Amino acid sequence: MSLTYDDVVAKYEPVLGLEVHVELNTESKMFCGCATVFGAEPNTQTCPVCLALPGALPVVNEKAIESTIKIGLALNCSIAPFSRFARKNYFYPDMPKNFQISQYDEPICVNGYVDVEIETDEGLKKLTSQFVSMVMLMSRSKQMKD
Ligand SMILES: [Zn+2]
Repeated sequence: MSLTYDDVVAKYEPVLGLEVHVELNTESKMFCGCATVFGAEPNTQTCPVCLALPGALPVVNEKAIESTIKIGLALNCSIAPFSRFARKNYFYPDMPKNFQISQYDEPICVNGYVDVEIETDEGLKKLTSQFVSMVMLMSRSKQMKD
């Protein structure tokens, strides 16, 4: 038995999941004081933390945390009183230290939502978008080839 489009719409509720990445406008990187100037010469915005040299410890960027909390509040999220970063180990050619600092099960912002009104044939309809969590992570570097 095949269903028509109208049958499917009547029987199922569409639920869409999106992963959205936002680059914060900080002047330094997420876990060290290196600049983030676009177009700078290669290997000029790096330090022992960026390179994951032994003994180099990352320190979280305070402005990035503040910005994330502001975004979380704007999206009606609950702000966690405690949050944790973890290392996600894998290799990318443009990230030879083989790990990315990210968040997994203890993100900064959780359970947010935004109400959106859309015009339909039956008039305005209110939809609620839910945000499961907002996590922070470091971006990989940029790989350049000649
Ligand atoms: Zn650095």
